[in-house]
Amino acid sequence: MKCSQDEKFSYGELNHYGNIELSPSSGVLNYGQGLLEGLKAYRKVDGGLLLFRPEENARRLQLGAERMCMPSPSTEQFINAVKQTVAANKRWVPPPGKGSLYMRPLLLGTGAILGVAPAPNYTFLIYASPVANYFKEGMAPLSLFVEDDFHRATPGGTGGIKTIGNYAPVMKAQIRAKKNGFSDVLYLDSVNKKYIEEVSASNVFIVKGNMISTPATEGTILAGITRKSVIDIAHNYGYQVVERPIPVTELTDADEVFCTGTAVVVAPVGSITYHGKRFEYKTGLGAVSEKLYSTLTAIQMGLIEDKMGWTVEID
Ligand code: PMP
Repeated sequence: MKCSQDEKFSYGELNHYGNIELSPSSGVLNYGQGLLEGLKAYRKVDGGLLLFRPEENARRLQLGAERMCMPSPSTEQFINAVKQTVAANKRWVPPPGKGSLYMRPLLLGTGAILGVAPAPNYTFLIYASPVANYFKEGMAPLSLFVEDDFHRATPGGTGGIKTIGNYAPVMKAQIRAKKNGFSDVLYLDSVNKKYIEEVSASNVFIVKGNMISTPATEGTILAGITRKSVIDIAHNYGYQVVERPIPVTELTDADEVFCTGTAVVVAPVGSITYHGKRFEYKTGLGAVSEKLYSTLTAIQMGLIEDKMGWTVEID
């Protein structure tokens, strides 16, 4: 779909996967006017296909577009484009339980612009790829390295939206953590340098007794769709869920720590390393994270009734 600053997105086209043409002076290449999204289509046991809360991805893209001075597709245009992409790639959706079709919507400033200003034209596109389940053979708890040197986001910045520019600056921290044997990085806030924010592409939760806590998403943390869904499921199970600043030192007192995201769904954290000290959780896949994981995946795959009205069937 293409549009200019003052128009609505005008048409949808289906193309084979391939290169796209970009002006060297396009807004996205020069000034980073780009947003991304990520969502999955699952195959049900009866062969039908399900999307999970695509209107939430549309809303998050619109929010990001507003922040980045870009026009955005309407929710209807977004969902139609996602449905069209899945319908054209039906045969690539893995069998039930074997994975999903991952879709990557992109909104890019493709028009040419020389001075720092919004691009005159935009392109919205979606590409798709089958993906296996994040954990192929049972869940391997994540080992997180708490980062002191690098931050993901600053107040007033773009941490709360899914702009492409948020990801390159943290690659150095991720590569260093992986080289040192960790599965991912847990970032701290950039002001006090003591409150946990999020992991590279997932949100983080801690469990203590009947209380589940997660950092509030106030500008510097991406409001994950899995995060929002897990909070609702946890409420339904009767847990108390609190969104609040969580000091990193509180992690060692938690019964369970887990991450949520479209890719990982719900992933247990097995250890946290902070200032050279490693703390291990004895529970493995904790009882609470297990409950949230199985309920969420059952809804996403159409194995249980979707009482929340979160899934969208594809004809
Ligand atoms: N935080 C960041 C930085 C992310 O990139 C993602 C992945 N979109 C998330 C959190 C989790 O969001 P969601 O549950 O919507 O995938």
